[in-house]
Amino acid sequence: MIEGTIQSVAGPVVRAGGLSGAKMYDLALVGEEKLIGEIIRLSGDRGVVQVYEETTGLRPGDRVLCTEEPLSVELGPGLIGNIYDGVQRPLEAIRAQAGDFITRGVSADPIDRRKKWRFEPSIKKGDSVEQGQPVGSVKESRIVDHIIMVPIGVGGEVEEVKPPGEYTVEEPVVVLKDGTQITMVQRWPVRRARPIQKKLDPTVPLITGQRIFDTFFPIAKGGTAAIPGGFGTGKTVSQHQLAKWSDADIVVYVGCGERGNEMAEVLKDFPQLEDPRHNVPLMERTVLIANTSNMPVAAREASVYTGITIAEYFRDMGYVVALMADSTSRWAEAMREISGRLEEMPGERGFPAYLGTRLADFYERAGRVVTLSGKEGSVSVIGAVSPGGGDFSEPVTQNTLRITKCFWALDSSLAQRRHFPAINWLTSYSLYVDQLADWYTKQIGDWKGLRAKSLHLLQREKELQEIVQLVGPDALPEGERLLLECTRMIREDFLQQFAYDEVDTYCTLKKQFRMLQIILKFYDVARGLLDSGIGVDEIGEMKVRGEIARMKLIPEEKFEEEADRIESEIEEEARKLSGRDKNE
Ligand code: ADP
Ligand code: MG
Repeated sequence: MIEGTIQSVAGPVVRAGGLSGAKMYDLALVGEEKLIGEIIRLSGDRGVVQVYEETTGLRPGDRVLCTEEPLSVELGPGLIGNIYDGVQRPLEAIRAQAGDFITRGVSADPIDRRKKWRFEPSIKKGDSVEQGQPVGSVKESRIVDHIIMVPIGVGGEVEEVKPPGEYTVEEPVVVLKDGTQITMVQRWPVRRARPIQKKLDPTVPLITGQRIFDTFFPIAKGGTAAIPGGFGTGKTVSQHQLAKWSDADIVVYVGCGERGNEMAEVLKDFPQLEDPRHNVPLMERTVLIANTSNMPVAAREASVYTGITIAEYFRDMGYVVALMADSTSRWAEAMREISGRLEEMPGERGFPAYLGTRLADFYERAGRVVTLSGKEGSVSVIGAVSPGGGDFSEPVTQNTLRITKCFWALDSSLAQRRHFPAINWLTSYSLYVDQLADWYTKQIGDWKGLRAKSLHLLQREKELQEIVQLVGPDALPEGERLLLECTRMIREDFLQQFAYDEVDTYCTLKKQFRMLQIILKFYDVARGLLDSGIGVDEIGEMKVRGEIARMKLIPEEKFEEEADRIESEIEEEARKLSGRDKNE
């Protein structure tokens, strides 16, 4: 270890001398309490350490130990269900040692050293193994099989494999001919992407059960999305819905608390979420990373990297992983603070000039891949952004939207009108639509056409609304008034989806498609009625409209039958209307 000394302290930024031999991003232990930090600048033997714990009390002359290793996470059984801080210290263990507030200098193993796990080997003596290849597995929770993999950079002929049985993470379970021991825990530097064989095209959607996403602005498995929105527009509710419902095997949730008590809420709420597909707590397939308010801002900087590294590790086992970060703006603010302390030349609104690069490097780690062992795995990344005052022109939103392929724009006026999810259908987009079209066509039908038609109608609605503002609704021709009736149905009967509704909180893709088909069918039939001389007001009073409005509340198992009935009712009622008209 290299031993330097503190020269000055400014908040989370500690300048030190005597660091010759140290490298950028080496882990440093600062002061007598060995506060955790990273070397973020070096020139000659002098450097700057970004400290992830409260620095009060540190003094010039105090010791700085450079470990000559980058900040890393521990990977192994015990991750699932755990709650960590930004530098992967388990909150439980820290709390047990130090109480709620004094967390400085507390070290606790991220992965429990004493706990025994039942290891089932999948290889045998004489086999030859390579990096990333499975050697066995551990049942980590009721729903997650944790695949034990050969660490990166290790490989060779197997000399010994432990029989099935209970082992701690530090006991070797495989020994190679050259004497290398493979245990169930490995380390990986957080700022470096874990290696893969190759990236795959984003051609499979991550199904979320949320209509606005799946039908209008889908995200691919391995894709990236941003959810920007002002305070109270629904970022956290959306992220929770995605965590709960998306068809991911593993969820990594990085909470960068917005308000003081918000992280406390996450810590309280998240462990109570149910995994609806398995009827167990969601935590049985979740790793939670929480930047509590008693951790200094700098730790947020580390937390997103800690999160994505854990996500990549589960991807390497062949899992579909979804990472949610709420909110990345807090991370960007940490960057701004550090940059300010370093007296770097500030960019727009004080954010460092490298803000865009950092965000891009992070989202770049998403992807659907062929893992080193030849399996398919993916990490999808969904980042909330909280622009002050909901102003999307600010740098974090702007830089993020240049990078992520889905833009799910929350809209405070929709939230105020209690249209939830308050995603603006006109300003949001997904750049995956073309690549996902084949998959959707095979699974459900002409999704692309239906989607385009609906979005086109909503676009027309916007234009017509502008006219209505000027001349009033009565000035519109009947055909356009009918269009407005229909888009209202798309908005209210299709797009609105309450997270807290027992049935509607999740909507299968099939049901989504059929619901929209029915609304558009109604529109087609109604236009026919209009052509045959029936007025819009009369069409608006058709009874089946009430049925359409209640479609979302029909449980999945009854839906097909009911949908058939509603469709024939549309025709029936239309027949009656036009028939009666003729009789008159
Ligand atoms: P943010 O994280 O953007 O500050 P929240 O996610 O906490 O906002 O949402 C604020 C409130 O909006 C929630 O408490 C809830 O009442 C409402 N809300 C947001 N999204 C939905 C939704 N999909 N369904 C029902 N209510 C929602
Ligand atoms: Mg929130």
